[in-house]
Amino acid sequence: MKTKGKKKNQVNVITLGCAKNLVDSEVMMGQLNANNITVSHQSTNSADIIIINTCGFIENAKQESIDTILRYADYKDSGGIEKLYVTGCLSQRYRDELQLEIPQVDAWFGTMELPLLLKKFKADYKHDLVGERILTTDAHYAYLKISEGCDRPCSFCAIPLMRGKHVSKPIETIVLEAKTLAGKGVKEIILIAQDSTFYGLDLYGKRNLAILLERLTEVDGIEWIRLHYAFPTGFPLDILDTMAYHPKICNYLDIPLQHGSNKMLRLMRRGITREKTERLIATLRDKIPDIAIRTTMIIGHPGETEQDFQEMTDFILNTKFDRLGVFTYSHEENTHAYQMKDDVPESVKLERSNIVMEIQERISNQLNQQKIGKTLKVLIDRKEGAYFVGRTEYDSPEVDNEVLIEASKGYLRIGDFCNVLITSAEDFDLYGAPA
Ligand code: SF4
Repeated sequence: MKTKGKKKNQVNVITLGCAKNLVDSEVMMGQLNANNITVSHQSTNSADIIIINTCGFIENAKQESIDTILRYADYKDSGGIEKLYVTGCLSQRYRDELQLEIPQVDAWFGTMELPLLLKKFKADYKHDLVGERILTTDAHYAYLKISEGCDRPCSFCAIPLMRGKHVSKPIETIVLEAKTLAGKGVKEIILIAQDSTFYGLDLYGKRNLAILLERLTEVDGIEWIRLHYAFPTGFPLDILDTMAYHPKICNYLDIPLQHGSNKMLRLMRRGITREKTERLIATLRDKIPDIAIRTTMIIGHPGETEQDFQEMTDFILNTKFDRLGVFTYSHEENTHAYQMKDDVPESVKLERSNIVMEIQERISNQLNQQKIGKTLKVLIDRKEGAYFVGRTEYDSPEVDNEVLIEASKGYLRIGDFCNVLITSAEDFDLYGAPA
């Protein structure tokens, strides 16, 4: 069927899910582009071929992926597109069932099958394209994946089912990628993985994140290095000296902790206790006094009682995390927790996550008030209405706080750093003027 008004062999990539999936899409687009295939991202343009890079993590994300596939399947039926391909975590996990249910999809690919996908375009995977990807983030920051997969046994998590065992990238490869990104004008790199603190154990026989961070500080042009997805158990304390020593490494750490009750940490198979976690956080703050700690909590895991939830809120109130997000537990087949009864009603999960976010709003406001009168280095991300909007080293893109600077106070260039005197604060945002 001739697709109306569509340019031949033009590809549009749709990315769902996390930053790791985004990097996979950027690499995929880099490969397609290097094989002379015109590619775009998340656009509604005239592409006649759609590739959906799906997420299969939890119920909501799975539903969003399926809805997106079905939408494009209808579009294909109506002659809007020629080909529809699906890749990513949902495809990795459920392709056998999905290919029977959605026959409009021309082919399904797993999370490690980019070379196979490229074959559909008579294209070859070009190994020499290390770090060559089409960036989809603002030009001045980029995610840098340092490993794939995960060896952890967390009871609720399906990621190891979709991403496999932990595989670290060699330091040389990551440094080369960082140099390539710097060459494109990237100033901030955000290190991502399923478990970044496991880095090197498989490849070098020891945790090598501190060495990697050290090497990345030597890359010219990179001014901020941000660390995400640390794991508390077996945390490599040597990275704290490296972080404290190098101004390029943001005093920021994303470390999902998931709960504050020892019973729940045991049921979640996190391999750590509340007490050990509190000692780790005390050490983080002792070594880097102004460190911003981001964490996530999972609400409503099987077995969670009102008492357990109380322990979680006490933990949050006592610790005062700088940034905090919540997930409600999703009963995922083939995970360890799937054998347990999903005994916390959805309404209770929702009620508890609202309570946690109300607590966090108050904490965030208190902490933000303490920033008034300070001058902070801000990376300008965009202009929005009457404001330039940026972030401090304590804030990661899309998930954390922002700094709003009145544009009438002077022109600022997107992608530039500037010093900002903080004049007022709200729950999650700061306001200021160029210092
Ligand atoms: S560390 Fe745990 S929660 Fe994170 S990806 Fe691995 S198994 Fe999942």
